[in-house]
Formats: sequence, C-alpha cells, structure tokens
Amino acid sequence: MTELTKTLELKLVKPNAHKRRKLRETREAYQQALHDAFDAQCTTQTEANNVVVNYDLSGYAKNALKKYVPQLTTTYNAGELHDDHPVRFTNEGLRLDHKPKNAIEWYVKIPHHEDYHLWMPAQPNPEQRDWLEALNAGDATMGESRLFERDGTWYLHVTVTRDVEDGSEASAEERTPIGVDIGEASLVTVCHRDRHGSPTAPELWTDEGKTVRRLRKTYFTATRRLQTRGSERIAESFGDDLWDQIDDVFHRVTRKVVEYAESVENPVLVLEDLTYIRESMDYGEYMNRRLHGWGFAKLHAQIRYKAVEKGIPVETVNPRNTSKDCHACGEVGYRPRQATFKCTNDACWMGEYQADVNGAVNIADRYLSGESRFREHENDDDSAEDGGRLTAPQDSQADATKQETLGTYAS
Ligand SMILES: [Zn+2]
Repeated sequence: MTELTKTLELKLVKPNAHKRRKLRETREAYQQALHDAFDAQCTTQTEANNVVVNYDLSGYAKNALKKYVPQLTTTYNAGELHDDHPVRFTNEGLRLDHKPKNAIEWYVKIPHHEDYHLWMPAQPNPEQRDWLEALNAGDATMGESRLFERDGTWYLHVTVTRDVEDGSEASAEERTPIGVDIGEASLVTVCHRDRHGSPTAPELWTDEGKTVRRLRKTYFTATRRLQTRGSERIAESFGDDLWDQIDDVFHRVTRKVVEYAESVENPVLVLEDLTYIRESMDYGEYMNRRLHGWGFAKLHAQIRYKAVEKGIPVETVNPRNTSKDCHACGEVGYRPRQATFKCTNDACWMGEYQADVNGAVNIADRYLSGESRFREHENDDDSAEDGGRLTAPQDSQADATKQETLGTYAS
C-alpha cells in the first residue's frame, strides 16, 4: 500500500459582496492572530491557544494556528512574518458538496466565525476530478485546507490523501488493454481481446443505463412541474435525491468495471480522451449527447480513482470514430439500430455486431496502435510539489525551508 497525497485546487466562483467581505474579515482576524501569536513567541499549542482564543475566528482556524505557530517559532528564527499567509483550517472545518445538475457543480463550506460558515460555489481544477469524486464518495481523506486571495480571486487548496495498492511493473506492451465505452444503450461497456486476438468477455450495463435514463427523465419532468407551482425548495431536494440515486448507480457500475479489470492479467483500462471530445466541434450530436447526457466526466473520474486504488493503470486514447469503425476490418460502418453496428465491407466476416462492444474493442485497440496520448499519469504521487498551478502565495521563507524538513505537513 502507498499513501497518495494531493493538493486539490478550487477557485471560488464570483463571491458576492457580502461573501467577499466575510472572507476578508476571516483573513484579517487570522493574520492578526497569527502575528500576535508569532510576536509573543508561542512555542507550544497551549501558549498559542492563549493568544488566538480571543479572536473572532472559527475553531478550525484557531486549531490550525495552534499547530502552525509553534512550527514557525521553533523552526524559523528570523524575526519577521510575511503578510501573505493563507488562512489555514483544520480538516474538520471544510465540507464539499456536489450538485451535478447545476452549472457550477461543486460547493465548499468555509468556516467563518464560531457558529457561522459560508457555502460557496467552487470551480475545481478539471484534471483533479477523480480526486473530488473520491472525496465526495468518502474514499479519500481531507486534510488541512488553505484559503487565500490572488489578484482579486479567492482560492481554496485542500490536502487530500488516499491509500492505493501498488501496481504490477508490467511494461505497456505486456498489458492487456480493456476498452471502456460509455454509451447510450448501455451505460458502460467493457471488453478486451484474448491472447488469440478475439474479443472476449464483454460486459454491458444495460439495465443501469435504463435506470439512469428513467431517473433523469423523472428529474426533468418533476422538477419543471414543481418549479412552475412555485415549489422551488421541494424541487431542489427532490432533485438532490434523484441525483444521489444516479450517483449510486454510477458507483456500483464503476466498481464493477474495476473488478472486471482485476480479473484480467496485467490490465490497463483504456478510456476515451475527454479533452479531444471537448476541443473538437465536429463529433456531432451523438458525441454531445454522450458527453452531457451521461455524466461522462463523472463516470471517467470514478473509474480513474477506483482503478488507481487497486494499482490498475488508466490510459486515454483519441475517441475519433470509435463508434463508427469496424473492430474487425477497420472499415467505417453504421448503426441500423441503436444497439447494432453493421460493417459495410462485403469482404468482412463480421456483418452485424453489438454496437457498444464494437466501440469498446476499438477503444482497447487504440492503446497499442499509437493513438494513445500517454498524457495521463497513473499512480502519480506528487505530494510535495503539487498545488502550485493556481499559485498559492508563498508562505514566506519560513515555509519554503520548512517544506524540506516537515514534508507534506508543512504546506
Ligand atoms: Zn468489418
């Protein structure tokens, strides 16, 4: 087992004037408390507590200060503090919420005063979606968080840890690619080729696809009806409940996908690259429906984090025509019916095939055909260096030196 640590980066989305004022109040009280405790040369938690207890701050910020100030005073001898310290909160202070139906999907609860907190919409770093899913599902542990402002924008950095199994050392060529197709008829379809090259053991989650379609339909019709009756609050909680049910289905299926991979020797899970799909406008309505209608990103993120937990690598490939090409001969075919793929090559032995399985095999094949972009980093442990993308203020020289001595705890 290995412990992975990552700093999740969240940008607070356009806080209104009231919330901005509250954030600034928190920061000012925190800075004052930090400076006073530092100037008083508090070297123990008790000493620091005696100073910070008087400030109008949440217990989470006070507790973070009680831990932080003695570190500063005992490891750093210069007599001055930088002005730019982020506000730290201990791990219990923060809450994360996910509302997939909203335009801004993620919300964070930020402590303000003792009995007062702010719920704020937040935009995460999209590359870290898998970590957010893990956190949201309780499969990752939240550590300390840091709140700061940079150029008028507020950010929150959250330290998160997960235990993962160590993967096998098999090389890319030794691995068996398992294609993962997220689709319409079947929510998810997986398939791989046996050592003779024949597609084998396809697994389709068709009933789950039906369930999710039904829940989504219920959501849209019922909430519209409730909203026109003016029952906004009922619509809201009813919607939350339905999306929780969809999320449960997603978790059940993504767990099975990873179990499927575990049953194959030296597996690698192969997904379609979402950035290709987003960047390209000409994938048409079918791709757009898949992308938006099915929680494509959410399913991918859940598969990713659950695979990494089991030490299974994940790769992404260019999705172009994975649903249109024939996996047997490479010719472009078509779908006479939703679930059927028909090859148009007269010389091809295949004729008709289950469309989602055909897609999954195509995805798997791209792993070794050079179409894989190898841009994802499985089992990435970037505990020390990561978190700089949204550029946290440097905590002062004190922290820069401390990073080396205290490791992940320091930042
Ligand atoms: Zn064919």
